[in-house]
Amino acid sequence: MVALDIPLSITGKTQVLGIIGDPIAHSLSPPMQNAALRALGWDGIYVPFPVRAAAVDTALAGLWALGVVGFNVTIPHKQAVMAALAEVTPLAQAVGAVNTVWRQEQGWAGTNTDVLGFVAPLQDWGHEALVPESSLAGHLPWSQRRAVILGNGGAARAAVAGCSQLHCGEIWVVGRDRNKLQSFAESWQDSPLCPTLQVASWDQLPALLPETTLLVNTTPLGMHPREDQSPVSPQDLAQLPSDAIAYDLIYTPSPTQFLRWATERGLHTIDGVEMLVQQGAAALEIWIHQPPPIAVMRHALKTHLGLA
Ligand code: NAP
Repeated sequence: MVALDIPLSITGKTQVLGIIGDPIAHSLSPPMQNAALRALGWDGIYVPFPVRAAAVDTALAGLWALGVVGFNVTIPHKQAVMAALAEVTPLAQAVGAVNTVWRQEQGWAGTNTDVLGFVAPLQDWGHEALVPESSLAGHLPWSQRRAVILGNGGAARAAVAGCSQLHCGEIWVVGRDRNKLQSFAESWQDSPLCPTLQVASWDQLPALLPETTLLVNTTPLGMHPREDQSPVSPQDLAQLPSDAIAYDLIYTPSPTQFLRWATERGLHTIDGVEMLVQQGAAALEIWIHQPPPIAVMRHALKTHLGLA
């Protein structure tokens, strides 16, 4: 595992990629991206950069001056970094967060690959009822499916955008803080992406479940060190249609308590590992203009997480 983390040699020509965040020491992106660079034989290295909130602008100027090719952005800078970019894609503007930045002539440009990462395992699912509407013949289309997203933080924004790209018929977001939930709903009202988003409090969730065919957890409930927790109970899961998908954005542990109960209920389940792989692969392709070695990245990540 360690060998995958270290490039074979660093020379004067070695290019630098990286990730900024605070904290950053436990980021899973360096082992995953460095494994990909090694597999491609690309003369580059992906470095974690701890950057405090007050130093984001200075850090971006420094990364530019040092010739860094591009970088990821993680918590807590995904929103704050946008003001320092010369260009932000319409998708990232709609989501309100940037996680991938690359060099352009006039300055840094940014986009959001979390949306693509979120959607990828749904597209790859292969279940006949889950193919996008454009390619289906006589099966339940996404436009007749209700997606319910639990939580209204940063990851929920990528999930909303992803469900919108899939053309889900209804998109609901469930939150515990009425003011935050209201602001969340208002932030999408003028968006071309998801103007019809609906919000609900947790006590309204049971009424939504019988028609819900995609249930997404974006809360940290179930994440280490709260492995014994779940955003919903087995009784809640019993209310879902039998062809529903339970999708947990948490990648460690895998499976979470939520997904273990969903499996017992006989539902399709997706964990957060693939989203992490796919958002990273999309970022790498932007930086190096080559198809990313997705299998290598998935293996490196799972090895690092102890799942391989
Ligand atoms: P975040 O911005 O902090 O949002 C977390 C959301 O969960 C907030 O809406 C929060 O509600 C809610 N929440 C927290 N504790 C709760 C509780 N006890 N009961 C009900 N709701 C609760 O975090 P994030 O960046 O969206 O990340 C959320 C999760 O997604 C994390 O587990 C993260 O690891 C995962 N994630 C995975 C990927 C991936 O690639 N697989 C990518 C991004 C995130 P309040 O706003 O009311 O506090």
